[in-house]
Amino acid sequence: MPSAMTRRGLIAGLSATGVLPLFSEAQAGSARIVVIGGGFGGATAARTMKALAPRLSVTLVEPRETYVACPFSNLVIGGMREIMDQGFRYNGVAATGVEVIRARADAVDPTTQIVTLEGGETLSYDRLILSPGVDIRWGALDGYGRTAIRRMPHAWKAGAQTVLLRQQLREMEDGGTVVMSVPPAPYRCPPGPYERASLIANYLKREKPRSKLVVLDAKEGFSKKPLFLEAWSERYPDHLEWRGAADDGRVSRVDPETLTFETDFDTVQADVANVIPPQKASQIADWAGVTDATGWCPVDPVTFESTRQPNIHVIGDAAIMAPMPKSAFAANAQGKVCAIQVARLLAGQAPQPTVLANTCYSYVGAEAAVSVVGVYRLGETAISEVSDAGGISPLAAAPAIRQAEAAQANHWFGAITSETFG
Ligand code: FAD
Repeated sequence: MPSAMTRRGLIAGLSATGVLPLFSEAQAGSARIVVIGGGFGGATAARTMKALAPRLSVTLVEPRETYVACPFSNLVIGGMREIMDQGFRYNGVAATGVEVIRARADAVDPTTQIVTLEGGETLSYDRLILSPGVDIRWGALDGYGRTAIRRMPHAWKAGAQTVLLRQQLREMEDGGTVVMSVPPAPYRCPPGPYERASLIANYLKREKPRSKLVVLDAKEGFSKKPLFLEAWSERYPDHLEWRGAADDGRVSRVDPETLTFETDFDTVQADVANVIPPQKASQIADWAGVTDATGWCPVDPVTFESTRQPNIHVIGDAAIMAPMPKSAFAANAQGKVCAIQVARLLAGQAPQPTVLANTCYSYVGAEAAVSVVGVYRLGETAISEVSDAGGISPLAAAPAIRQAEAAQANHWFGAITSETFG
């Protein structure tokens, strides 16, 4: 497992790629950087800023003492991992010299460049980096309000919701029906619902063989679809039924009292209900004035600076970075590049377009995973996928290949959490 990111290691790596900003510390030294959100994007951006310019004032604002990671949380739901293994504290980030403030940011004034924290404390900034992740788009799915999550957990923000869904599955009688609804894109982690479906089906096959999972999907196409369909027909033919949009899979209404899902022509009864609801950028992005009508944040593809408010940069799930997916891998990479571009801007240097990669691993069984890799050019006017770069796991692969990918996924999780929080 790679060790935590050090200043020397980071700078060596960045120099090798030719993107290290040659800015003078005197120029950047007095600037104040505030980062909101200590997830994969924000924690990485904060520590990278500090590594590039140790004399900069870098403050990370995050309400939680322990970050609970979504990647690998589907393994918790499938009974293969404990929720404790998903938690990461901020001691490692603070040890790099970043000031970590445990509070929620309640307001951003882009004109005065001031962030107000819960409790009223204020922080002024020269550059603000927002990586606040996603919120549920309440009201977008009829019947799914704030109290519905107790009976129909989404488990799309890891933590108590993950544990609740796990518990409901455990308590369900053998012979029960689990129903999951999947929203239209875009949402956090495009292959996440299908990894979850695989791991719930795996649990049912193992522990409740007379039970079944029905997936009601608003779409026809999804990430790694041929690989998932192959895995499901080989491994879970009696335990998983996927219904896409063409097969009346789009859910228009849910009822938390009766645990029912309504599609155009059907009402599907659940014993355990997992609603993956429509999402948007987290609320602080609205308050900062950086979201558009889609609910997400348009940004300059090179600097990640908001196209709506100057001196505010948005990274991770909240930003519109398509065709890059909303993933922890992408948020971490964007955090590093955003820090470099902010350092260049502070030093009066021109930001540089770059190329980023993303890998999404998905478990399809206990020790079996598949993956997809994409490479993206962050150009001056748009982000585009580099053709003939990247790739996807082969179909009809030997079990050893799926096992090797599961081992790689495990190493990836260790590496990214160590680099972000360690
Ligand atoms: P987050 O990691 O969500 O961090 C946002 C942070 O901002 C949070 O800590 C939050 O507390 C904080 N925050 C929010 N509002 C405020 C505020 N007002 N003030 C202060 N702080 C605030 N990605 C992968 O790459 N690989 C995977 O295998 C994978 N699996 C996944 C499985 C599931 C089930 C899910 C749901 C997601 C998965 N993802 C995966 C996606 C990944 O979790 C996200 O893409 C990633 O967490 C995005 O990072 P972020 O920094 O944008 O947001």
